[in-house]
Amino acid sequence: MSYTTDPNHPDLVRRDDDAPRKQAETYLVLSEEERAKGFIRPVRRSYKHTICGTVTTMGMAIAETYARDPQFYTGTYCCGCQMHRPLSEFTWEPDGSLVGS
Ligand SMILES: [Zn+2]
Repeated sequence: MSYTTDPNHPDLVRRDDDAPRKQAETYLVLSEEERAKGFIRPVRRSYKHTICGTVTTMGMAIAETYARDPQFYTGTYCCGCQMHRPLSEFTWEPDGSLVGS
């Protein structure tokens, strides 16, 4: 898996899944320069999918992107369901607040 700061990268997943699929090859993140401007939320590495209860842990670049800009993403990947789903279905571990809030 790799990261890009290019929102038009051809490998990016642009919609939620309704059937299992592999995790995307490439994920969009904010640039290191943008992330270095400061976090407005704690950096959290794991979230729980409230539909199935599975906890997924993500890479630091994505965790820091959420911390800098909580509304940057509209959906995320669940390792249990193997689907990209809307953020409203996920809560942060361990504090339980809604991902994207
Ligand atoms: Zn799930």
